[in-house]
Amino acid sequence: MPLRFCGKLPEQPDTHSCHVGGVPLGGKSPVVVQSMTNTDTADAEATARQCLDLYQAGSELVRITVNTPEAAAAVPEIRRRLDDWNCPAPLIGDFHYNGHRLLADCPDCAVALAKYRINPGNVGFGQKKDAQFAAMIDLACRYEKPVRIGVNWGSLDQAVLSRLMDANNRRHMPKSVPEVMREAMLASALESAGQAESLGLPGRRVILSCKVSAAPDLIAIYRELAARSRYALHLGLTEAGMGSRGIVASTAALSVLLQQGIGDTIRVSLTPEPGEARAKEVEVAQDILQSLGLRAFTPQVVACPGCGRTASGFFQELAQRVRGFLQAQMPAWRGRYAGVEHLRVAVMGCVVNGPGESRHAHVGISLPGAGEAPAAPVYEDGIKTATLKGEHIADEFLEIISRYVARNCARKKELTP
Ligand code: SF4
Repeated sequence: MPLRFCGKLPEQPDTHSCHVGGVPLGGKSPVVVQSMTNTDTADAEATARQCLDLYQAGSELVRITVNTPEAAAAVPEIRRRLDDWNCPAPLIGDFHYNGHRLLADCPDCAVALAKYRINPGNVGFGQKKDAQFAAMIDLACRYEKPVRIGVNWGSLDQAVLSRLMDANNRRHMPKSVPEVMREAMLASALESAGQAESLGLPGRRVILSCKVSAAPDLIAIYRELAARSRYALHLGLTEAGMGSRGIVASTAALSVLLQQGIGDTIRVSLTPEPGEARAKEVEVAQDILQSLGLRAFTPQVVACPGCGRTASGFFQELAQRVRGFLQAQMPAWRGRYAGVEHLRVAVMGCVVNGPGESRHAHVGISLPGAGEAPAAPVYEDGIKTATLKGEHIADEFLEIISRYVARNCARKKELTP
């Protein structure tokens, strides 16, 4: 089976690269998953717990709101708690309006954070804007921190927008308002990045984002950003939404860009459904990267959708049980077995596609469809190794998977997808 490419796709020239905490970002580094807490940052215990949850779900960077002196004062305590729990997740501080003051007044916060996020539309108003932006960049230079210049269309710098609208009105053939809006977002990001560099922040420590809530706009803007600069790029739809709408919209937008080699770090801004874990956004971000073959995080279960040939509900139960089993094993397997995250297991409903798909997986089972003999052939690395029958098919199949992993990964051998 061909080795799957894992890393960034090569169409685009490499972006600048830096480290955020200990995490490499940009250049040839793998695309990084990040997330954001929704706790009150001033509540150090609750915020540290949620950072830990997000990290354990796979978030490699965690962003927290830093909006008040109390929140800034809590940041070093959050960092301490995470270190006590052996959680190295770098913390990113999200600042609006008062970041220059909070960072200056709380040096421990400035040190504890691994990156600062500045929204050029929310730095300050009028003549104060440039001074407050410069103060934040000075602090980033002093503490050697990277900065994300994060433009959001909901808080676009009105001075830039007015300037471009006026210029557009003077054109012989004016552009449409959405086109000018997109151009204003690009201008806000690129001009702020240029300003940061002129203040002494190295370009390799600048990360850009321009977030909108519609996938076509996001794709158009990031293609331009990638064409016009070498800054590392953070991708994500803003306000992606809830449930399948948010997942589908984020996947559609991010996949197009990632497939073109655009994007160094991603966030899926899902609105959690009531009772849903915050870490769902991390799971979706990982699934996007793994589906594109850019990263591998957890074993994949390939299952057919089932149809009129499916003999019983047992097929769905087995697919679900295998998925749950693999997820439950991963915390232990990850430490013991190198490359186990590349494992592909097929669970198929009948002989139409079952044996073929099973042969393409590391381990596969093809259940008997309606009218077929009650026997389930099992394939390992494309070779039929067993035929399961009777009441204990599920348990026996899970044992086969465990033995396969132990046999193929125990000596730290990487599985080849
Ligand atoms: S593999 Fe068989 S049961 Fe599954 S969808 Fe195809 S025909 Fe239907």
